[in-house]
Amino acid sequence: MKFSDHARVVLVEPFLGARTAPSAGSKVADEGVRAPRRICVLLAWRCALALVLPAAASAAIQAGFAERDITPQIGQERPGGYGKAFHRQLLDPCKVRAAVFADGTKTVALVGLDALMIDRKVVQEARAEIARVTKIPAAAVMIAASHSHSSGPTGMVQPGQYDQAGAEIRQLAYEQSSAADPEYLKHVTAQIVAAVAAASAAVVPAQLGFGNGREDKVGFNRRVRMKNGQTWTNPGVGNPDNVAPAGPIDPDVGVIGAWDLEGRLLGSIVNFACHTNVIPDGISANWVYHLERTIQGAFYSKAPVVYLAGACGDISKIDPFARFERPSEARWMEIVGGRVGAEAVKVLLAAERGADVPLDVRAKVWTIDRRAPSAANVERARAIIAAGKKPGVPAQTAWTFAKETLMTDFLVRTQRAVEVEVQAIQVGPAVYVSNPAEYFVEYGLEIKQRSPFPFTFPVELANGCVGYVPTEEAFGPRGGGYETRLTSYSNLDVSAGRQFAETGVELIKAMKPGKAPEPPPLKKPGEPWLFGNVPPQLD
Ligand SMILES: [Zn+2]
Repeated sequence: MKFSDHARVVLVEPFLGARTAPSAGSKVADEGVRAPRRICVLLAWRCALALVLPAAASAAIQAGFAERDITPQIGQERPGGYGKAFHRQLLDPCKVRAAVFADGTKTVALVGLDALMIDRKVVQEARAEIARVTKIPAAAVMIAASHSHSSGPTGMVQPGQYDQAGAEIRQLAYEQSSAADPEYLKHVTAQIVAAVAAASAAVVPAQLGFGNGREDKVGFNRRVRMKNGQTWTNPGVGNPDNVAPAGPIDPDVGVIGAWDLEGRLLGSIVNFACHTNVIPDGISANWVYHLERTIQGAFYSKAPVVYLAGACGDISKIDPFARFERPSEARWMEIVGGRVGAEAVKVLLAAERGADVPLDVRAKVWTIDRRAPSAANVERARAIIAAGKKPGVPAQTAWTFAKETLMTDFLVRTQRAVEVEVQAIQVGPAVYVSNPAEYFVEYGLEIKQRSPFPFTFPVELANGCVGYVPTEEAFGPRGGGYETRLTSYSNLDVSAGRQFAETGVELIKAMKPGKAPEPPPLKKPGEPWLFGNVPPQLD
């Protein structure tokens, strides 16, 4: 499928609503952007604004940050696996953190959630409400999940998703699978709106700094080339059949900092590519808690730290080639968050700051078909489920993926095409480019390499969730591994990753990068120091 044939480009003009340009054959849900019939009224508004706004207004950035609590209750489901697990204690809070930027013409919001995933329906409801209460256009809001495996019940099965299925599938989905809690989703939606509204109300004239730190010792490509010619995920640390990592990592720690005109830190945004799947024994923002603690501690500040996960579908905590035992999960959480946070601190300390930060937004919404399980696979799965779980087998792997096959079969038959969005939000010389996937790092690196921006930050699990989206190579003869399994969670066509990358590059190439702030140029060459401009004195 040539995906651009099925796309509708959404061109966004914050404050002034949005123009939508449908292409042939498109049928996508309303993104909450203003309807085209309002353009005349809005253009009149624009003229009026042009008359009253001072010419310099577009050059002075304003920034506001806020956070709200989304800590789940003890006893609620802990999503992240294919079966049910429940929270037994609280370690640290889960939050929504929001950054709002306004350049006098446009306003954008970047929202990070301490959550495993966020469903597109929640994103659309939150965006619509944000547009109503703040006047920030729905399409200028990016909402991304950190992928915390120790957070609240936002997934994996969504409320009502299997209501039309037969009794057996309904039972497998709602009673045997990790399922979102409808009341918790309502709470998360309200807190997203509240955080963005508070950040929007808090905007003040600001200066922004930009940079990339480097951290290459906490995230590992978890896919490994094996001696048998296949590629496996987490094949066992030190397994003698491990040959080499199947792909790279992305060590960039992408940072934007915002300060008020008195030099107080207002907040920061951190982008890094590593799963937040350390498993502490309790409710936690995962290593993002230690990231936040490290930055806030260094600056003696409570300024919010918005974490947006980079392309890390294949990047995780375990080094398959390690020669030593791993530290405890609790200690590893501190190490990952602390090291990424320390890199962010270095960037925040050193970054030159500036106020000339143009904003822009582009997005594209289209549909991608699911992969369908074969009839033989479905039949095999039915037999496994009919036989029941094997007593005394803790993992129940065959049973679990048979369940997933039957659930996927239902989804394919009732909703073959999945709506997806790629969104690009420009903040001066930086651009955040989203996808709704657990996206392979290879694509994140490629988008960075092809981007004209000095700072390009891929953001995964944003504005919806479509599960793992591997490279096409991973689906090939030497591929395989966990991320390529066909499940109710991960099932998009093998071309999905390529579609997201091409769309992201297309959107960011339509934008004009701002200039990264620089210190003033050297006024004139310096004079030699009179103690220092001498030949060696030997006697
Ligand atoms: Zn994952």
